[in-house]
Amino acid sequence: MGSTGISIELRVLDESRRFADAIDQSMCNGCDECGARCTTGVPMLRTEYAAIRAYVESPDGVDARAVERQDKQVPYPGVQDVYYRACRFRDVEQGQCAIYPVRPLICRLFGHVEWLPCPIQKVPAPAPGGIVLIRRYSEAPRKTYEEWLLEDSRAGSAA
Ligand code: SF4
Repeated sequence: MGSTGISIELRVLDESRRFADAIDQSMCNGCDECGARCTTGVPMLRTEYAAIRAYVESPDGVDARAVERQDKQVPYPGVQDVYYRACRFRDVEQGQCAIYPVRPLICRLFGHVEWLPCPIQKVPAPAPGGIVLIRRYSEAPRKTYEEWLLEDSRAGSAA
């Protein structure tokens, strides 16, 4: 990506973070009712991927590294014999996110936007402006963590 692409992406990231930080998350404290949405395949910007990777590789990422080694094939809550593949950073034993401070935008919006509503209607109304924001965010290149990782490892082996 050229420097123009990177600066646009940083602007989108900044805007997204400000939007997500302004959301009242108080009703989500200690709640894990949307935890089953933490499935594999969450798309993210390269800058978000880079922040997660730096966090995971830092001393703060010790728990996240352990969580990555858990078996992620888990039963879907409340449904018999239905399994899904959880996100590599979902702590399936504790029921929480192991990279919470650096989680990507989509995860910050869980429960607070029209297309990812709170499953137990604890959030009274979606945050205004979410659809406009996600349209802008979607214009920047997004891949899953695993896809960015693969791209980096290919670039590393080609160097
Ligand atoms: S990064 Fe965290 S919040 Fe996002 S899907 Fe994975 S476990 Fe869930």
